[in-house]
Amino acid sequence: MANPSKHKILVVDDDEAVRDSLKLVLRSSGYEVGLAMNGFDALLQLKRSLPAIVISDLNMPQMSGFEFLSVVRRRFPEISVIAMSGAYESGDDVPGGVIADAFYAKGHGDPQMLLQAVAELIRTSSAHAADHERESAPVWIPRNGKDSHGIPYVVLTCTDCLRSFPLSVMTEDLQKIQETPCLFCSSTVRYIIDFSLSVASPRPDADAPAPATPGTRKATAS
Ligand SMILES: [Zn+2]
Repeated sequence: MANPSKHKILVVDDDEAVRDSLKLVLRSSGYEVGLAMNGFDALLQLKRSLPAIVISDLNMPQMSGFEFLSVVRRRFPEISVIAMSGAYESGDDVPGGVIADAFYAKGHGDPQMLLQAVAELIRTSSAHAADHERESAPVWIPRNGKDSHGIPYVVLTCTDCLRSFPLSVMTEDLQKIQETPCLFCSSTVRYIIDFSLSVASPRPDADAPAPATPGTRKATAS
C-alpha cells in the first residue's frame, strides 16, 4: 500500500490564514504541502513539480478558482482536485460545471472530512486520472466587465500556452460550452462564461459609462 507521506498536496488560496491552517492540518497527517496564493502562482509551481492533489479556493482575485481548476484538469489530468469555498455549504450548491473531484466547505467543513477526502482521492487517483484523460474540460471564466464601447468582455487563458487574451461577448449563453481560437497559438480554447460571477477589479475605471441612448439624455447638464 502506498504511503501517504510520499504524496504532495498543493493548497491554493488568496487568504494566508487559510493556507497556513490547511498546511498544519495536512502536514500533521504526513503530507508534503506546497502553497500558492493564486492560480497563476499555482500554475508556475505545477510546471516545476506535480502534486498528487490540488486543493483550491474558488473565489480568488486575478484568476478565479473555477478557471484555475479547468486549466489544471486540461493540462494536468493526472492530478485530482478538491474545490473549496466559504460561499457554498455543500458541493451540491456550487454552480454546475465545476471541474473538481471533491468539494470542501471552508468555514463549514470539518478538517477531518478534508483529510478523508484527500486520502480517498489518493487511493483512487489512477482511476481519476483515467477519467480526466477522457474528459475535455472547458475553461470556466467569470464575466470581467465592459470595454470602452460598453461591450462585455471576458479574459480567456489558453490551456496550452497559458497566455491570456480578452474576448468580447456578444451573447449571454449561460453555461453553454463555446470555442474560440487562441490569439497566440493555434489551440482551440473551450470555455464557459459564468454570468453569475464578476471579477472584482482593482481598477477604479472598470465600470465604463453606459452608452447614451437617444432621447434619454438631457440637453443640458444640471
Ligand atoms: Zn495558446
